[in-house]
Amino acid sequence: ARAELMKMEKMQIVSQMAASISHEIRNPLTVVKGFIQLLQTGRLPRETEERYIRIALEELERAEAIIRDYLTFAKPAPKETEPIDVAVELQKVLQMITPMAHMHSIHVSSSLEHGVVIGNVQYFQQCFLNLLKNSIEAMPNGGTLHVAAENRGASVVITISDNGVGMTKEQVRRFGEPYFSTKEKGTGLGAMVAVKIIEQMGGTWTIESAVQKGTTLTITLPASRVRPPTAEQSAAG
Ligand code: ADP
Ligand code: MG
Repeated sequence: ARAELMKMEKMQIVSQMAASISHEIRNPLTVVKGFIQLLQTGRLPRETEERYIRIALEELERAEAIIRDYLTFAKPAPKETEPIDVAVELQKVLQMITPMAHMHSIHVSSSLEHGVVIGNVQYFQQCFLNLLKNSIEAMPNGGTLHVAAENRGASVVITISDNGVGMTKEQVRRFGEPYFSTKEKGTGLGAMVAVKIIEQMGGTWTIESAVQKGTTLTITLPASRVRPPTAEQSAAG
């Protein structure tokens, strides 16, 4: 019965995510539709047309950004939960963000112990992609991004450190609140998605930050004693 209940809770989170995404992208799509309908009349002055086109494109970019914050790794038929080797999955996310880091003169370093947690691997990747992207965006003039994973008793502790713009106490308090963003083109959804995923995995998080010095995020996840599937097993099934 307990397993059934946990399964139901997980299904609920999956459908909650789907509901949130369609809710979030409906707004920008409605705006785009409205402006295209206006353009369709064909009787607008040239400058007005250009302005409407610009707004429509900006709204489409916003829809794209929202989808990126939720669904970068989404697959049609996701497994619910499975053992995750944090070193392997963090390495994959690091590989994804390294080109973006280098473009901003950011040095990336990592020290990753193999630890196993239970979760949905796509959500795990989405969570850390969102957090690492925030760290990179916090260092527009370059810096260092350090990611570590460490086994500590019954927990796996993951830390993400940057020496970027940092956060005020108020910003730390609002971290994870929907639509809270200090960026011109921010969605304010990336941290919320990350926090929800951490909580779903039974984890906790803390932030240590100083303005103009940087930020360290510490994420503590319950360790699993189950071994992650070996490469051969994954390939076979
Ligand atoms: P977005 O990145 O679209 O602004 P997020 O939900 O991902 O939205 O982040 C919310 C806010 O939290 C950011 O706008 C920023 O102010 C703050 N933030 C998150 N991570 C960091 C960080 N590593 N350094 C400084 N500020 C951060
Ligand atoms: Mg973000």
